[in-house]
Amino acid sequence: MYSESLLQLGKAPSEIREIFEYGNKRKAEIGAENVFDFSIGNPSVPAPKSVDNAIKDLVDNFDSVALHGYTSAQGDFKVRTTIADYINKKFGTKITAENLYMTCGAAASLTITLNAIMLPDEECIVFTPYFPEYGVFLERTGAKLVAVESEEKTFQIDIEKLERAITDKTKAVIINSPNNPSGVVYTKETIEKMCDLLRKKEQEYGHSIFIITDEPYRELVYDNTEVPYIINYYHNTFVCYSYSKALSLPGERIGYIVVSPEMDEEKDAYAAICGAGRALGYVCASSMYQRVIEKCVDETADISIYKTNRDLLYNSLTEMGYECVYPDGAFYLFVKAMCEDAHEFCEKAKEYELLLVPADSFGTPGYVRVSYCVQTKQIEDALPAFRKLAESYR
Ligand code: PLP
Repeated sequence: MYSESLLQLGKAPSEIREIFEYGNKRKAEIGAENVFDFSIGNPSVPAPKSVDNAIKDLVDNFDSVALHGYTSAQGDFKVRTTIADYINKKFGTKITAENLYMTCGAAASLTITLNAIMLPDEECIVFTPYFPEYGVFLERTGAKLVAVESEEKTFQIDIEKLERAITDKTKAVIINSPNNPSGVVYTKETIEKMCDLLRKKEQEYGHSIFIITDEPYRELVYDNTEVPYIINYYHNTFVCYSYSKALSLPGERIGYIVVSPEMDEEKDAYAAICGAGRALGYVCASSMYQRVIEKCVDETADISIYKTNRDLLYNSLTEMGYECVYPDGAFYLFVKAMCEDAHEFCEKAKEYELLLVPADSFGTPGYVRVSYCVQTKQIEDALPAFRKLAESYR
């Protein structure tokens, strides 16, 4: 009676949500201050004051019918022009409103883009560890996810493994930098090598291979780490951006897609994005939040607490003997489980009221994700529990 695959998807619990729900139950039992919940990636800093002020100003001074009314399907022209100008100023690109499609967040940006380009039986490459929803989004297109292992320890793209994975069916490669869950930022050198390889493979197979760059964490980088802007390196690029983390607005659902102006058959690519948005019902992203973004286009939430947390957690855990990937960005620490089975390790961690996420569903068994978008005090209070957990494996 119902779509079997969607029924199963709806019934399958998300592991992260399950741990989060367990945490809520445990907090009710023993008090929130005694549970160290590192499960979920919800920003822990408020949106900048300028966002609140923009909302107030819009409500008080903008025409109410227009503010709450439909914009064009791909987003308000003035809003898109403001964002395009901002991107051009920042990255030296030449995009216009006609390259931009407003969406309700990175998830929508990704599903729209994947539906616009992927055909059944084509292949889309992702790099481990990868955001598990890529598999869900791809399945609806009938295309196949091909996971390529990243370099050991650095978790940069392994170019040789990538080369071996590309076939005549490869249509796209998804990258996510800064990465959820490793926190790794791909270096300029990695990006250049990947783009050179993809250009070579496009020549060899005689068709376009696209890069989809999933960028909700672009602004969350520490110590002046540079995040290369992929449009400046590769012609067939779709940027899937979101303000969820950059402006701490995950519940407001606002982001965009950029279609590179250098893309093969650029006008058709943009039309396919508009078509996919229409077919999936993703037309006219929140009208009010489009206008908020127009007013706050160059703002970022105060991310200094994430850097404080990153330093505290990374330094403390490595000192305790944990093997951690050094995160240049995002708000996750990727830690090697101290036993083979990461699920078993996370169950053991629960005995010390530590809630961690096994990374099996990210394609990297044997690792756990620690979300440090929490108050610094939670990390300080949790350190003895992390120490006891490590000691239990000695
Ligand atoms: N991509 C990655 C890697 C993410 O971590 C997330 C959310 O956590 C998303 C996409 C979806 O972001 P949004 O909330 O903007 O839809």
